[in-house]
Amino acid sequence: MHRSQFSARERRQRSRLAQVVHAARFLRGTLTVRNVRCGKPGCHCARGELHACLYLVRRHGGKLRQMFVPRQWEERVRQAVENQQEMEKLIEELSDGEWKRLQERKE
Ligand SMILES: [Zn+2]
Repeated sequence: MHRSQFSARERRQRSRLAQVVHAARFLRGTLTVRNVRCGKPGCHCARGELHACLYLVRRHGGKLRQMFVPRQWEERVRQAVENQQEMEKLIEELSDGEWKRLQERKE
């Protein structure tokens, strides 16, 4: 299939997808805040003032996995998660376009 057969919209979606794949981080998962106790005796969390900690959660091989995300990594991880979501949306839209072409028996 020749590239120029795609609509302008589809070409934009494909080039955005390629841009993320080539140059950006992407990560499948969900960021969630958990209030936790660190376990150190004498820490304020032992008296009930819990630490708000960021975790990355993902399902992998049928199991739920989670990873603590340090504050200084938050922005990087958040961006990677957003990029993944954007890519999934683009792939879904491109797949819909191909579905329609097939349905209409277009080349
Ligand atoms: Zn603590």
